[in-house]
Amino acid sequence: MSVFEHRSYDDHEHVAFCHDRETGLNAIIAIHNTCLGNAMGGCRMVNYRSADEALNDVLRLSRGMTYKSAAANLPLGGGKSVILGDPREHKTKDMLRAMGRFVDSLNGRYVVAEDSGMGEADMRVMAEQTPHVVGYAKHDGERGDPAPATAYGVFLGLRTAVAHRYKTSDIRDMRVAIQGMGNVGYRLAKLLHEAGAQLLVSDIFRDNTDRARREFGATVVPPEQIFNQDVEVISPCALGAVIDDRVLNQLRAGVIAGSANNQLAYDDIGNALKAKSILYAPDYVINAGGIIDVYYQTRGLPYAQAQRHMTKCISSTLTEVFRRAASSDQSTNVIADQVARSRFDPDYHPINDAA
Ligand code: NAD
Repeated sequence: MSVFEHRSYDDHEHVAFCHDRETGLNAIIAIHNTCLGNAMGGCRMVNYRSADEALNDVLRLSRGMTYKSAAANLPLGGGKSVILGDPREHKTKDMLRAMGRFVDSLNGRYVVAEDSGMGEADMRVMAEQTPHVVGYAKHDGERGDPAPATAYGVFLGLRTAVAHRYKTSDIRDMRVAIQGMGNVGYRLAKLLHEAGAQLLVSDIFRDNTDRARREFGATVVPPEQIFNQDVEVISPCALGAVIDDRVLNQLRAGVIAGSANNQLAYDDIGNALKAKSILYAPDYVINAGGIIDVYYQTRGLPYAQAQRHMTKCISSTLTEVFRRAASSDQSTNVIADQVARSRFDPDYHPINDAA
């Protein structure tokens, strides 16, 4: 099968397969669409089981970035990259420098940031080779890591979803179950705790959940039980494809609002969620805080300005999605795709499509 026939190809503009013999780097850079601007998106390092799994992941993620930036009203296109390998075992500085040179060879059409398996220190090493790196602090005291902004955006979006589903914007005493107490999940838990929510949390690392129990009085739940808790809100902040048929049958929450990318195992499950009156806040709309902040960082603009953009954009786009989904009796993920696509594709007219 050629890449052009790949199930996730979706008219990608550019897919680069990168190999560096000296360092053993195997990577893929995918640029989905640059109609609104140069592509920006994270670089993830994962021990994929196969090259096809890596290709599928990078294609789905880079497409998601096009939709995310468009939904967030940013003048950016969508792209993403993956390095194949275990970040704890295989990552070396020379490998990251080689990756930086591949990014540089695209002359800015793709701008790289951090993602799973990558940190600010890795971005700094890539930046030795290319100016097209964002999302890391260049000097002490400068902001870089987008996770705080992502958590803030999810917090705003979660409140918007709660207001729509439960007709109250007050999340005091609401029960929220968060999967994943990592960079985003922990910060989201802090914001929710400060707003008075009751937290149930899970993580595969005990020190992460212990910290949430200590600091926020969170109830710790075993990872395999997080989705069947008696809560108002489920917040997936760990992995993609977590909302599948098995989880669907367990869910008791009325709202799904979390940071993880590609939360739905397949698109049609959005209809099943709707049938169960579970309001799904589409992932790329609610988790856009990080890319908004990174964009403002590249323009040298303060966090307060990025926060204003998030406050305005995430809530209003979600409200538009929820309203149109309700009036057209369609799932929120389908409507989000229509809203985002109509912002980056001048030839796309969703109303005519529906007809
Ligand atoms: P992270 O790696 O810091 O945190 C993920 C956490 O999930 C880790 O603590 C990990 O131990 C935990 N985890 C893994 N498998 C689990 C399981 N089965 N059950 C419970 N916990 C599990 O990542 P992050 O930066 O916090 O991002 C979280 C999610 O949000 C990811 O899907 C990421 O792609 C997405 N996202 C992050 C950002 C950002 O700015 N960091 C932006 C947009 C989207």
